[in-house]
Amino acid sequence: MKIPFVNLKKQYIQEKQNLLKVIDKTIKSGEWVGGSEIVSFENKISRLCKTKYCVALNSGTDALTLSLHLLGVRKGDEVITPPNSFIASTAVVTHLGAKPVFVDVKDDQNIDENEIEKKITKNTKIIMPVHLTGRMCAMDKILKIANKNKIKVVEDAAQSIMSSYKGQMAGSWGDIGCFSTHPLKNLNAIGDGGFLTTNNKSIYEKAKNLSTHGMQESRDNVRNFGYVSRMDNLQASILNYRLKNLKKIIKIRRKNVSIYLENLNYRRIYFPKEKQTELNTYHTFVIQLDKRDELKKFLKKRGVDTTIHYPIPIHLQTASKFLGYKKGSFPNTEKQSKRILSLPINQHITKTEILYICKQINKFYS
Ligand SMILES: *Cc1c(COP(=O)(O)O)cnc(C)c1O
Repeated sequence: MKIPFVNLKKQYIQEKQNLLKVIDKTIKSGEWVGGSEIVSFENKISRLCKTKYCVALNSGTDALTLSLHLLGVRKGDEVITPPNSFIASTAVVTHLGAKPVFVDVKDDQNIDENEIEKKITKNTKIIMPVHLTGRMCAMDKILKIANKNKIKVVEDAAQSIMSSYKGQMAGSWGDIGCFSTHPLKNLNAIGDGGFLTTNNKSIYEKAKNLSTHGMQESRDNVRNFGYVSRMDNLQASILNYRLKNLKKIIKIRRKNVSIYLENLNYRRIYFPKEKQTELNTYHTFVIQLDKRDELKKFLKKRGVDTTIHYPIPIHLQTASKFLGYKKGSFPNTEKQSKRILSLPINQHITKTEILYICKQINKFYS
């Protein structure tokens, strides 16, 4: 058996015939920067995420940067966020001269909402929860804290398109939702891509403007210096095509997780089960266990690719040294970083392959 963690080549083989037509059409149209595919993508996403507006951008990282920038995050401000995310969530804060203030996570790997209020100071500008693995944070409680303290909320929803919590979609809770369409995300472009969602017209207009050099209507008058962060029309056309399959892909990922859950021996493995209040889209399926590194090697020898999201917490990265955190600062995050393992659940894996993986894992622990 040879089971890859993701299988982008297979994705392309399946869609090649139709996708090449889409690509050809977009290139022929001559609309390469901006264009009708962007408009169509933004409309589709707004409908899907149940927000009034969407701005198509060239990465999830840029969605976060523009969000913090337009909400006024500057030098000396503080942004509350978890230390166990993809590195970009923290990097964008430092680029604006602001200080990331970490709050440890719960057993389900999401920010502990009960620890947030203690970290609020007069400099706190934003709370940025990360819906890790496709599971949403306790947004009702987080919004309550934010509203009480007059702080804005930016959701890092890069891993959670179409996830919901208490029936409300990811990206529609906070002031802004930030998403990624990186090739490894559930909705993936052929290269970098992302977008932000909001219900606020002024935020929408500012984000649009900032994303295109600050020169939206005319290139002659520029009120604010901007960035170049817009999505390519070509990527938008690819995403419009792939959006048709998103619901199906999420359904398959959920089904794959359920096969694991039925067949893994739970005495040695921890998995935070999905609650009734949440709909998890499983960007990743992460189990927590002892002897993680040995199991990873054991599976690799038997042809199974697994991965770790993420082996080194952000506060322990060399880049974070200046923040002054040390080992022991965030015990849950640190403990999990040694115990988490992401198993393959991509839409191309077969039931036989999942059963094989379960058998190997159960064998390892017996
Ligand atoms: C992928 C990801 C990002 C960054 O998105 P890019 O499109 O790669 O820039 C940010 N935060 C989280 C949690 C992510 O998973």
